[in-house]
Amino acid sequence: MVIRWKLALWFAGIVSTILIVFSLMIYLSSANSRRNDFYNRLHERALITASLATDITDDDRNLLRKIDTTAVSLEHEQVMIFDRSGKMAYNNIAVNRNITRKMVQEVFKYKTVRFKLAGLYEGVGVEYGNKDYSYAVIISAIDKHGYKRIHNLRISLVVGTLLGILISLLAGLFFARRALQPMSTVVGRVNNISEKNLHERLDIGNGRDEISQLSSTFNRMLARLEEAFIMQKAFVAHASHDFRTPLTVMLSEIEVMLLQYPDSSEFNRMLLSLKEEILNLSNLSSKLLDLAKASVDSSNVRTSKVRVDEVLFTAIAECCKAYPSYKVHLDFCELPCEEQQLTIFGEEQLLKTAFVNLISNGCKFSSDGSIHISLTCSASAVKITFEDKGVGIPASEMEKIFQPFYRVYSDKKIPGHGLGLALTARVIELHGGSIDVKSEVGIGSTFTVVLGRAANEVQEG
Ligand code: ADP
Repeated sequence: MVIRWKLALWFAGIVSTILIVFSLMIYLSSANSRRNDFYNRLHERALITASLATDITDDDRNLLRKIDTTAVSLEHEQVMIFDRSGKMAYNNIAVNRNITRKMVQEVFKYKTVRFKLAGLYEGVGVEYGNKDYSYAVIISAIDKHGYKRIHNLRISLVVGTLLGILISLLAGLFFARRALQPMSTVVGRVNNISEKNLHERLDIGNGRDEISQLSSTFNRMLARLEEAFIMQKAFVAHASHDFRTPLTVMLSEIEVMLLQYPDSSEFNRMLLSLKEEILNLSNLSSKLLDLAKASVDSSNVRTSKVRVDEVLFTAIAECCKAYPSYKVHLDFCELPCEEQQLTIFGEEQLLKTAFVNLISNGCKFSSDGSIHISLTCSASAVKITFEDKGVGIPASEMEKIFQPFYRVYSDKKIPGHGLGLALTARVIELHGGSIDVKSEVGIGSTFTVVLGRAANEVQEG
């Protein structure tokens, strides 16, 4: 989850908890206050009714009943008066609200008792009279208006709390976004920095807040990276020349010696072995330097229109010249008529190196030294597959073969340094293409290279 959302949720969570606790407190205190008010009103009504009902005749009681059931009474009000023996002396309406003998006894015992009756009915029992003669007056009713008020309050609180939660979430998101905006700007700028514009630096703003400190740290890191990059570039440029020159000199001198002393066989054998080792070293240094060049700076790669089929022909010719035993089978059956479809933007030399590596790998890792190459193309890409019936590559090694110096079969019988595929993968990546391998041990391997035409056209612009 992104930090913005985390902050917003934390903020909304805290505000929501406060809102819910406050709403609950308001609701509970209002409900309690309503209950107390209503019991007080019931208590007063009980005393009034008792004072009227106890000292009057039966006829007057009928009148009192009428008064009790008119507008002055509470909602569904029932007044019942009992003497000490539990006998009912007065009842204003004939309904049964489960007033039990036990409840009457409680009134005489505690003087004033509150009852919660079935449904929404609430009641109060009061003892009225003197020491010698007293009555229990039990009055019950519904607090219709009070309940309505509480119901309205409940709805207002629920709606208010939900609205509050929503607003706090939106506000949290808004403020988190504002607070993190400078961070996103830093991330955007850092993402745009590559080996081509390592000299660029981030804006450090006021230099005091955390974002400024982060930018300064990035700037220091970029400065160190730039320095290392410049050193590496200088090394590649100079080493390329300094490595090859002495090796070439040594090779030519050996050639001359071989021509001058054609007969001395032992001496000849040593010279030939020396020549082979120097060639090997020269090959290794070329590959290393090619890899370093391709890895250091992609801006050095000069792209132009390149015919993939022609580069492939050149690579095959070069391989077959260096290793005459290699057998390369080409399949151009699905080739289009228009040469435009075979043209991409790329660096011919690098592409040829990549193809040579794949061809020589296919041949050297198969027992009969043969490889099958096919070239197909679609409107947007050119696809080349290099298929051999060789030793194959175990599934567990598939990821590693593109790492420099990694070799699955490191025995000396098959020559190599483990650099070919690393270089090939880098070259294909520089061209915006992809390389994929499918292989089965003992059956063979297929390397598929896809070079996109559209992506390369953009590069030219
Ligand atoms: P190398 O100089 O050893 O050929 P690469 O980088 O070209 O170095 O290849 C790395 C390793 O990947 C090879 O040593 C080999 O074990 C494995 N590999 C590459 N291509 C093939 C292939 N066509 N068949 C079997 N194994 C291969």
